[in-house]
Amino acid sequence: MNNFRLTVAALACALMTSVSASAADAAKSADIAHHNLKPADFPRWHQIVPNVYAYEDTLITPDFTFTTNSLIIVTNEGVVLVDGQDNETRGKALVEAIKKITPQPLKYMIIASDHGDHVGGLPVVKAAFPDATFISSSASLKTMQGQKRTVLPTELVDDKRSLKLGGTEIQILNLGRAHTGGDLVVYLPATKVMFLSEIYDRNLFPPMITGFPTEWAATLKKAQTMDVTWFIPGHGFTTGTPAELKADLVDFTKAVDLVISEGKRLHPTGAPCPTEKDCPANAKANWGPYANATAAAGQAPRALARMYAEIDGKLPK
Ligand SMILES: [Zn+2]
Repeated sequence: MNNFRLTVAALACALMTSVSASAADAAKSADIAHHNLKPADFPRWHQIVPNVYAYEDTLITPDFTFTTNSLIIVTNEGVVLVDGQDNETRGKALVEAIKKITPQPLKYMIIASDHGDHVGGLPVVKAAFPDATFISSSASLKTMQGQKRTVLPTELVDDKRSLKLGGTEIQILNLGRAHTGGDLVVYLPATKVMFLSEIYDRNLFPPMITGFPTEWAATLKKAQTMDVTWFIPGHGFTTGTPAELKADLVDFTKAVDLVISEGKRLHPTGAPCPTEKDCPANAKANWGPYANATAAAGQAPRALARMYAEIDGKLPK
């Protein structure tokens, strides 16, 4: 091979490397723009297994847009919905989607995350389905009592409850504190689908402003010991194969573990991080493969400040 050919070959090789690296980055991004999608492409939903739908609408920030997800379970005795989107417009779109999918009424609204981007649509859901029973953990009820526009749950699950509707068993489980402290998951043992809500924020830097880092890691690992085929996230795409969803859950767990280990490494050095806005320690952190994860710039100092608060014994009991 002459020099010219070598140069061409080297260039082609470099080009292929950079193309495949950026393709891999895009595949690992929760930003809809990196997947050639725009807000107008949402809401959208797809059937994971028969009668179980993952529903995605958008959460738009000035820098990037990612999905906020709900789960819709259809039975011949009514519908179960998990998480309610972030405002009345998106709540209305969610109600319309349920009505397109099935003539069955909503029976249960499960609040797996009590954060505004998951409960803002609840008043519209309640107006459309006034007979639906709203369920959350008691920790989430307490949080929601401080929210302005919401619908308070009337039934509480703090450990485990099993609903049986039209022959479908739907388990509501508390696997431990994670993102909100009131975190619940919904598990379908027959089809092995688990909706993890915000415990799993796929391809996002872990959003920890109200999180419990060490407990969160344990909760993620507990979920992975269960008999689950489909791990469905509360943010980030719900699409892909079971293996892809599982691999990204493992990856997200590693990101949570890294927040914990970087916090433990940096705290004793005296590098301060009293708040997300005053966090010089973040410049010394090594976020490795997560440094460029979606939302990393904003979420990394938040996560580190939260881990420092855990080390200092300042998290809520
Ligand atoms: Zn949240």
